Amino acid sequence: MSEAKNQASAQARFVTIGERTNVTGSARFRKLIQEDDYDSALSVAKSQVENGAQILDVNMDEGLLDSEAAMTKFLNLIAGEPEISRIPIMIDSSKWSVIEAGLKCVQGKGIVNSISLKEGEENFLDQARLVRRYGAAAVVMAFDEKGQADTADRKFEICARAYRLLTEKVGFPPEDIIFDPNIFAVATGIEAHNNYAVEFIEACRRIRAELPHAHVSGGVSNISFSFRGNDRVREAMHSAFLYHAIRSGMDMGIVNAGQLAVYEDIPEDLLERVEDVLLNRREDATERLLETAESFRGKGSERSAADLSWRQSDVTERLRHALVKGITDFIIEDTEEARQKYGRPIEVIEGPLMDGMNVVGDLFGAGKMFLPQVVKSARVMKQAVGHLIPYLEAEKAASGDTSTNGRILLATVKGDVHDIGKNIVGVVLQCNSYEVIDLGVMVPAEKILEAARKEKVDLIGLSGLITPSLDEMVHVAAELQREGFDQPLLIGGATTSRVHTAVKIDLKYDRPVVHVLDASRAVGVCASLLSKEGDGADAFARKIGAEYAAVRTEREKSKTARTLPLEEARRARVAIDWSDYAPPKPNVVGLTDFADYPLGELVERIDWTPFFRTWELAGAYPKILDDPVVGEVARGLFNDAEKMLHRIVDEKWLRASGVIGFWPANGVGDDIALYSDETRETVLATLHCLRQQIAKEDGRSNPCLADYIAPVETRLADYIGGFAVTTGLGLDEVVAGYEKSQDDYNAILAKALADRLAEAFAERLHERVRKEFWGYAPDEDLDNAALIREAYRGIRPAPGYPACPDHTEKDTLFRLLEATERTGIRLTESYAMLPTAAVSGLYFAHPEARYFGVGRVERDQVADYARRKGMDIKTVERWLGPVLGYDPDRQDAA
Ligand code: SAH
Repeated sequence: MSEAKNQASAQARFVTIGERTNVTGSARFRKLIQEDDYDSALSVAKSQVENGAQILDVNMDEGLLDSEAAMTKFLNLIAGEPEISRIPIMIDSSKWSVIEAGLKCVQGKGIVNSISLKEGEENFLDQARLVRRYGAAAVVMAFDEKGQADTADRKFEICARAYRLLTEKVGFPPEDIIFDPNIFAVATGIEAHNNYAVEFIEACRRIRAELPHAHVSGGVSNISFSFRGNDRVREAMHSAFLYHAIRSGMDMGIVNAGQLAVYEDIPEDLLERVEDVLLNRREDATERLLETAESFRGKGSERSAADLSWRQSDVTERLRHALVKGITDFIIEDTEEARQKYGRPIEVIEGPLMDGMNVVGDLFGAGKMFLPQVVKSARVMKQAVGHLIPYLEAEKAASGDTSTNGRILLATVKGDVHDIGKNIVGVVLQCNSYEVIDLGVMVPAEKILEAARKEKVDLIGLSGLITPSLDEMVHVAAELQREGFDQPLLIGGATTSRVHTAVKIDLKYDRPVVHVLDASRAVGVCASLLSKEGDGADAFARKIGAEYAAVRTEREKSKTARTLPLEEARRARVAIDWSDYAPPKPNVVGLTDFADYPLGELVERIDWTPFFRTWELAGAYPKILDDPVVGEVARGLFNDAEKMLHRIVDEKWLRASGVIGFWPANGVGDDIALYSDETRETVLATLHCLRQQIAKEDGRSNPCLADYIAPVETRLADYIGGFAVTTGLGLDEVVAGYEKSQDDYNAILAKALADRLAEAFAERLHERVRKEFWGYAPDEDLDNAALIREAYRGIRPAPGYPACPDHTEKDTLFRLLEATERTGIRLTESYAMLPTAAVSGLYFAHPEARYFGVGRVERDQVADYARRKGMDIKTVERWLGPVLGYDPDRQDAA
């Protein structure tokens, strides 16, 4: 046969798998299932068949659904619809229980999507045998113990191994094996992704050549994920990709059956650029396709005409609309049109763009817009300005000419790495026409001073997340004073407070020092401090000064709250009756590594409420999604988050890595001794704990974490555990990719999601510790809500948090865990963890163990603690600054 005929017949044999009956892939289908509208859900299936689907993929994996029940119900309904049930059903789930539920319902031949070597050979063979028992075929993902395959070699190697196991050990008919060698997105801006299509196509060729009778399939729409919202380009990418993959032997694919462009109909220039990207033919392929893509924006078949009515108005109004609505689709062409109309690029910025941003600022200030929307608006602004920059430069109109409301320097202080909040503040300020000079994280005082001087800034803003940063901020303030600066100082970040700012920082610097509670207050504070109307700025400074003086007086008075001498507090230790307690022995003593933990397993453990808080949307998940005020914004944000999360998992943007350990341990006073082995003769390390000293009337105890470990006198063989986890490996590249394309929204989203995954990893490992590794609660069966409520036995306090406020204890913990070597997490000089998406802490198993706050510690405890730690008192006072019950600079106080 000729080449052309070959291709034609391969195309004709190609089996399309309908994808719309998938709750994770189709918002519409998910909504129908959630609303129990199975009639309409059936019509979705029907239209897939009418559009040519030859197999129907059904997926009900959604956190809030009873997936087994939904699968069963939907498949039983399909069985009664002859038009649908004439084609095979592909049961798609990551949960084996859902697959089995589905297998029980299908008539005729079913297909399981999917099984893999992810959890080892035994698991794989077990599942394959079950599939066989139902006479079903199986999709086999190119996924093994090491993760999802991304290169042709790995893809083929895994498929070949699976093929041998299936045919030799299970007697699986090779024609019932469908390999899915992972289609990943290309043109993501991340260089490592550029060859993904090529690798897939090469894998198809080798599988078909060397593994007789097996099929090759894949989820086609993944390839074009970067072009979401641009259906025309996506359709072209899908057809072109299939054209090449089918030639190499791909004979099935999950596609939107009604929505494939005809390869020959793709305009030549578009096709060339699409193929440059798919076949990784040139370095600038992505940029070139992005350029072309702009002109096809919004021309896809799904976009409704009504959405685009705003395109009828004049360019000034269109720019305003795009800014307020956060739509980037047409921003380049509109900006260009405006540039030509206005003549000078600077007039476009100062005219329509600034006007639009002012509307955004006003709406945000009035509580009519929320952070996620503002950040999206900022993205529109940045891309517009990005387009104008070359013209600005050509005109030699240096940005210094542009009038702004003021220049603001932002920095996360030395030793601290957190920057989500700071970045959000930066974006919000930029939206309000402030020029922001962001020095990034871990910035030493000298650098801050130097940049403030050089850039002639009007304001300096400091940010910090962990308590040691408070001290560093005091230091920066003192330096500003010493060097005679006169800019007002802004203080923000999770660990900061009005009281700390008033009591500790304000006194070090003569100029105004203002605590900024959150991003939404930043603009108001900056505007007041820089106000040029009358003596507005001075009046504001006086007002804040008076407020902070009052805070200090108040604070002096409140100091009278009584504390106990350490010895007395010790007598009120947590009264645990050790006589009838048998400490559970961990099933695994020593260290256990988790090198490349499956991210998919963490997704369902995410606690979403703090995610919305990051974006300053108040309310608990999932109720927040239906909130009358922020519900709509929350849903939009959540939707974006879920989509990105999908990609983070499927395309392995991030790597999760962790270590846990258990050691024989006993309480020794307020310390915990960890032993080298069961003889308990050699002390391996000592964890130092602090005790609450607040005087209590009602006989309640004054806890210390050491109280939860059997004291050495009891002679009980107790244990303690520790952990350090991160999901931030690879995050920097993802963020850099987004920042490069002026996309703060997605950059911040990626960081926030990485943080969520890290907490979820801590939650998931703790769960497994209770059930498996320590194993004291093998039968625990809690859902995510119960886990978030901490309805389980045991705690995992984290150094730096209220029960153990001393960050330096992380040093001991990290040494014990060999955490840096094993996980790649580093500690900064202030004991912040890098990558930022990281959590570490201790495991306590005693049923009475609770979180508490140490509160203020007094001189007697600090002296005792310093002695136990072998540190001098001054050093301890510095680390414990935020919890000291006294002023270390005043020797007279008792
Ligand atoms: N579901 C939350 C979990 C993090 S907050 C999330 O995803 O963000 C709860 C964790 O903070 C606890 O597991 C513990 O590690 C730490 N923590 C909370 N209160 C604490 C305290 N008083 N002392 C020490 N650690 C504490």
